[in-house]
Amino acid sequence: MRLFSILQEILKEMDVSKEDSPVREIRINPIIPTESVLVATARSMRPRKAEEPAPRDTRKHVDTCPFCTGNEDKTPPEIKRYPDQGDWDLRIVENLYPVLGNDRSQPGLLFGLQQAIDGYGRHEVIIDHFQHGIAVHEMSHDHLAKLFGVYQHRMKELYQLDERLKYVLIFKNFGPAAGASMAHTHSQIIATPVVPQNVYDEVHYSHEYYKRNHQCIFCSLINEALTFEATIYDRTSGQILRQINVGQYVVERGEKFIAIKPFASRYEWEVHILPLQHASNYLDTSPEDLDDLAKVMQRTMARLDAVIGGAQYNFFLHTLPQSGEFQSHGHSYHWHLEICPRTSIPTGFELGSGLFVNTISPEKAAEQLRAVQL
Ligand code: AMP
Ligand code: ZN
Ligand code: ZN
Repeated sequence: MRLFSILQEILKEMDVSKEDSPVREIRINPIIPTESVLVATARSMRPRKAEEPAPRDTRKHVDTCPFCTGNEDKTPPEIKRYPDQGDWDLRIVENLYPVLGNDRSQPGLLFGLQQAIDGYGRHEVIIDHFQHGIAVHEMSHDHLAKLFGVYQHRMKELYQLDERLKYVLIFKNFGPAAGASMAHTHSQIIATPVVPQNVYDEVHYSHEYYKRNHQCIFCSLINEALTFEATIYDRTSGQILRQINVGQYVVERGEKFIAIKPFASRYEWEVHILPLQHASNYLDTSPEDLDDLAKVMQRTMARLDAVIGGAQYNFFLHTLPQSGEFQSHGHSYHWHLEICPRTSIPTGFELGSGLFVNTISPEKAAEQLRAVQL
């Protein structure tokens, strides 16, 4: 009885401290030390206005939607369709309004500090599913695994097609808060003649970490996320009452993949999915692994959807760039998928300072996501 009441008291104290002591700290991104996030959970610290969750377009088919079946002539030429005969499940098409073009523009005159890189590249749309308003967590597991395979296949093709393409970025905007202009579920491919700065920084800093510590920082973060322990001691005797292997930042775990809440998350509900075994290049992922990725992705998205209530988000894939200069970074870089739900609009402070403000502690957010019954 006494033991029970002590335990209750300790747990109560733990709960109170969770409720009552708001986090207010600047957390350094462990991968990119030049980036940091202000985690400020006190109400008075809220500089951001919460976005109203917009009702999701759940229609299966919309006659006027250029991405819906029957309207295939409303998109520029099709690059591929799956399956290639009969009714398609997903399609890749040229983007009607590409941000980068594959026609070489005339190099303009550049003066002094006004330097520019030619806007050469590729911009394609992947119509993720024939059903207009289906969310990722509602797609079948097989379909999602197929979609990940399609990403891989097209990335390989683009690299082979043109050696001037230095990076192929796969990303998805879902919902107006995430900048999506088309309601029909889709992802995009933008292939650029330079490695994007974000990817470059991750590759560079993780290599620096590797040189100092002889291990991959992403693998270290996964280990840390998995092995976190909380120990509750008896106050008087000092005896261990309970040992909890919390996996504090773990949101979801499959056989080959893990979804974790980054310690210095920029977005309140940001989650990253990484292979559990070290792997630098998404293009080397086997079909069996993509199958597990689909499972972890689907469950993660279902958790996000349940907690946020109709998640509007961006996700993007970061993998080792193909060009030779990065091939020595295979041990230090670890490919991953970053999911950034958009529940608030970045403010002037955030744009002006580069310091993202996160009003929900990542530990609490992970706890809530884990608690969802699937
Ligand atoms: P988002 O703005 O994220 O919803 O992405 C939609 C993308 O689809 C944009 O990049 C548009 O340029 C592109 N787009 C819009 N209409 C069409 C169309 N009819 N065919 C192909 N791409 C389109
Ligand atoms: Zn549609
Ligand atoms: Zn690793």
